[in-house]
Amino acid sequence: MSGVETRRVDAAGLAEAVEAAVDCLSAGEVVALPTETVYGLAADATRPEAVLKIFEAKARPLFDPLIVHLPGMEWIERVCALEQGLRRQVEALAAAFWPGPLTLVLPRQPRVPDLVTSGLETVAVRISAHPVFDAVVRRFGRPLAAPSANRFGRISPTAAGHVLEELGGRIPLVIDGGPCRHGIESTIVAPAGEELRILRAGPVAPSDLERFGTVRMISGVKEVRPEAPGQLASHYAPRTPMRLRVGDEWPEGVGVLFWRGQPEPRGRCEVLSPAGDLREAAMNLFAKLRQLDESGVTEILAEPVPETGVGIAIMDRIRRAAHRGV
Ligand code: AMP
Ligand code: MG
Repeated sequence: MSGVETRRVDAAGLAEAVEAAVDCLSAGEVVALPTETVYGLAADATRPEAVLKIFEAKARPLFDPLIVHLPGMEWIERVCALEQGLRRQVEALAAAFWPGPLTLVLPRQPRVPDLVTSGLETVAVRISAHPVFDAVVRRFGRPLAAPSANRFGRISPTAAGHVLEELGGRIPLVIDGGPCRHGIESTIVAPAGEELRILRAGPVAPSDLERFGTVRMISGVKEVRPEAPGQLASHYAPRTPMRLRVGDEWPEGVGVLFWRGQPEPRGRCEVLSPAGDLREAAMNLFAKLRQLDESGVTEILAEPVPETGVGIAIMDRIRRAAHRGV
């Protein structure tokens, strides 16, 4: 963890932390910042040499495009090329969900660096609702490219300590804004005519999107050439083998991830939400997975959660964490 500065943000320290982050970004460096979904690793989206440092720190393949976080709605036309119908659709979605955990995949403006979009003709954009991220991107005054602040394929960080575990020694600065509210990555949607294609399930559920178009879930597991690498079969993965739990018996030495209720007094187990609240379960998912992963158990068994609302995104992540094929 050598060489990483961590700034904890409290009310008094916000301005100072924002300055430190903006200084770093202006110098063409990367900074880990809290968002309402997971911690992001941010760089100036307009400077390819800065964006490259994100890929290097994460060991992320260059074919995996990044999400661009806008300082505000006034940036949308500078980054995206929107014909009239699409602009109206985007404005309606933005009014409902921005700032917030919805990413839109839209036709790009030519000035967006190829490195950001992996050479695609589209760019993924959102506006974050996190007060720290919001303050940094506004003060910086330019869009930030920011994928999750973890090594490629690993569990996304939902606390500053997770970022240090993943990227300690590889990045200069982490801004610690406490645990992330949603705890799961943004919903990614590609509008296509009347259709809203969900490329990645997230905190914004399909039912939330229905009044804006015909919702189609594309976010299945794909083995090759995914539209979004969040679609890679094996992603968000612990190092310990994991599978969905079936039945009430399990061997010794195994860790169990329950979705609700009281922990059973046998072996190592964690509960996503004792009261059975899916939002709380989403918030806790990655931290609990990390704890089990680090506890020395030989296998992790995960109890399925109901697939409604954000439960759809939770099961999507659990299935990918359990998939070891790719
Ligand atoms: P991360 O922020 O690490 O969760 O990764 C960003 C996600 O956004 C990845 O799964 C990308 O594939 C996806 N993404 C970014 N740009 C595009 C794009 N132009 N088309 C489809 N997916 C994208
Ligand atoms: Mg990621």
